[in-house]
Amino acid sequence: MCVSIERLFCLTSQQAISIAPVAAGKGIFSREDAAGVIAMVQHVNPIGVKVLEAKIGGNHNSGAELAYALTATFEARNVHPKAAKALAFMAVTEVCSAHRCPKCNGVGSIDARLRPCRACQGSGIKNVRTVKQMAAQFNALSGLKISEQQFSQIYYDVYMEAIDELYQQEGEAAKYASKVLRMVEAESEVVNG
Ligand SMILES: [Zn+2]
Repeated sequence: MCVSIERLFCLTSQQAISIAPVAAGKGIFSREDAAGVIAMVQHVNPIGVKVLEAKIGGNHNSGAELAYALTATFEARNVHPKAAKALAFMAVTEVCSAHRCPKCNGVGSIDARLRPCRACQGSGIKNVRTVKQMAAQFNALSGLKISEQQFSQIYYDVYMEAIDELYQQEGEAAKYASKVLRMVEAESEVVNG
């Protein structure tokens, strides 16, 4: 495939104004073409598209919309509103941060001598967070004060389910976007060839 999912979402991100269109197959795949493909995917999988926009395109609005929708989902499951908001923020941050180490931004080192980043031991990948860290972040965000054990009992499952769901939607949206891209490319080859 000539146009990747990364390129598709980078083309339509706010930072993309300066990116010149490149030849894809025999035609030119423009920002407008990308927006058209994304609109088609959005129709089928709106949540997955928002995850991809936030994750790849760095679109903060999409992240905020996801958090808003997720808060409502948690509240519908009788989660305390303050807790719902905190969990939604945590889930969206987790899924959309692409697992890059925040300290070194995925590079694996932050100094000129290339010593390994201490936060990720040079891997560039964010460590999987412990329940203790999750509970601490939850308390800081919600203003509630619960123990690690309470977090495990009350919120852990509902939180992990939300994360799994977001990853699943993201995967489905990416798969569908690839399919649409192949269709578009096949059409442009017919037109141009
Ligand atoms: Zn690091």
